[in-house]
Amino acid sequence: MKIGIMGGTFDPIHLGHLATAEAVRELFALDEILFIPAARPPHKLDKHVTDERHRLAMTTLATRSNKFFRVSDMELKRKGLSYTFDTMNELHKIFGTATELFFIIGADSLADLSKWHAARELVAKCHFIATTRQGVEADFSAVENFFGAAAKEHIHRVTTPGLEISSTDIREKIKLGRSIKYLVPEAVEDYILTERLYL
Ligand code: ATP
Ligand code: MG
Repeated sequence: MKIGIMGGTFDPIHLGHLATAEAVRELFALDEILFIPAARPPHKLDKHVTDERHRLAMTTLATRSNKFFRVSDMELKRKGLSYTFDTMNELHKIFGTATELFFIIGADSLADLSKWHAARELVAKCHFIATTRQGVEADFSAVENFFGAAAKEHIHRVTTPGLEISSTDIREKIKLGRSIKYLVPEAVEDYILTERLYL
């Protein structure tokens, strides 16, 4: 089995996440993509994050029309800080270590990978797929210097649709009373309006 993992705060989930996940699934012939909303991402401790109940609901709505997409609440259940290292170990326990894990990260996150908890062990045991993000040029040589040979085998750079969408931008648009149509799936737009999120 080859499983792709799309982690994020998904506050809210948008078409950038979904299009990227689908492109990676095809490119790497992955059996499924697991969307895992983070409880407390260590790099967003100073920021307000919407209640996990809403983020989980929106992620579920956004992914239901793709039979290869699944949602896991494992990081929400674990509480505390969401370390990818813990998630990897939990997934290896569930699926067995023969299952290959492919963590999908945006170019903006790749630059920080060396600072992640237990980064070297993480990169040794699973794959990272670094996708393009508009306006971000990831410094791959710095990553290669840090991780050495493991980087060549386990960190893959791919060019994905590069939709210029971010959750930050969507939240700002809502605050300003502007349209978020075609940036998020319709069901997510409806949910945001009904629950009066981001106002
Ligand atoms: P925020 O603006 O709140 O940080 P975000 O849009 O960056 O939100 P996250 O939940 O932080 O979304 O992102 C989760 C993962 O998805 C990260 O690896 C991020 O790099 C990636 N990602 C987010 N938006 C896009 C996009 N438009 N295209 C490709 N990857 C994306
Ligand atoms: Mg982000």
